[in-house]
Amino acid sequence: MKKNQHKTETHEFNRRRFLQGLAGGTGLAVLSPTSVNAHVPSYAQTPSVLVDVTRCIGCRQCMRACKQANDLPDNTDLTADFPGSWDPEELRFDQWTVVNPATGCDTDGNEVTRNIKTQCMQCLEPTCVSVCPVGAMTKSELGPILYSADRCIGCRYCIMACPFDVPKFEWEGGMFAVIGKCQMCAHTRLAEGRLPACAESCPTGALKFGRRDSLLFEARARIKTQPERYIDHIYGEHEAGGTAWLYLSDVPFENIGFKSNVETTPMPPLTWEVLSKIPIMAGAMAGLFGTVAWSLNRREAAERQDASENQEDSE
Ligand code: SF4
Ligand code: SF4
Ligand code: SF4
Repeated sequence: MKKNQHKTETHEFNRRRFLQGLAGGTGLAVLSPTSVNAHVPSYAQTPSVLVDVTRCIGCRQCMRACKQANDLPDNTDLTADFPGSWDPEELRFDQWTVVNPATGCDTDGNEVTRNIKTQCMQCLEPTCVSVCPVGAMTKSELGPILYSADRCIGCRYCIMACPFDVPKFEWEGGMFAVIGKCQMCAHTRLAEGRLPACAESCPTGALKFGRRDSLLFEARARIKTQPERYIDHIYGEHEAGGTAWLYLSDVPFENIGFKSNVETTPMPPLTWEVLSKIPIMAGAMAGLFGTVAWSLNRREAAERQDASENQEDSE
């Protein structure tokens, strides 16, 4: 066996064992939305990604890998003259991550451009989950926030509640439109012991996957040993009560488009406090939306059945 092959297989084995350990061998069990606060005594083990903005060259390989891994239409334009010169892209229901150039002042007051990868931040205590009246947004036991199109009634509360403006609605989808957002490759890759596609595809090591506590430890070490390279801020350590996506940068985050007005305390308790004061209204809304969605689904099923019977009759 070649040395490199052995190294690769050992690495693969360790990676699988790590992910199996994270999953506790139970797969991606899903908690009810209202039990988010009660679960997981510590978020230290949450599968996370450390994004080092100083290492990102804006090649957008991660965007392409995300689409391929999640069966999303891949029209990523990789034909620009040099990485980082792309036209800006937006998150969409069928585009779960984007990398865009952002220009702002560094700590010396010089105007610089950095490439910023954006996706669902995988909040440790997600507001999108806490506001969803039908449990279509759920936090898996492993950590990633999952979305179920089967349950979704299209109320778009999650869109309004997300502090990072992440979930996107399929506006052309009519009454049966769906929401789209990064689910950290939970179904497609993490469950099989594989890395998120974006992290695996990055050619520069700008994306590093691991346990949240290990990544925080590494991020602090990088800041300490290279103070000339990094500002002393890990974005996502505290924002929105903490997120699984963590960022390091040499430019103040607020200067390159990161939201600086995000609360540093978890928001779901506030949501639940409000909802608990209006349980009848919350229940009624969920019931109303559920009934509307159920009748529309039923009507669509009946229409499909009629169309299929008419086709059979004409044959
Ligand atoms: S970033 Fe938004 S969509 Fe993602 S988990 Fe947090 S609240 Fe939910
Ligand atoms: S973790 Fe997976 S779903 Fe999320 S941005 Fe990366 S490749 Fe896409
Ligand atoms: S693959 Fe890596 S270097 Fe390329 S755009 Fe994505 S994060 Fe940046």
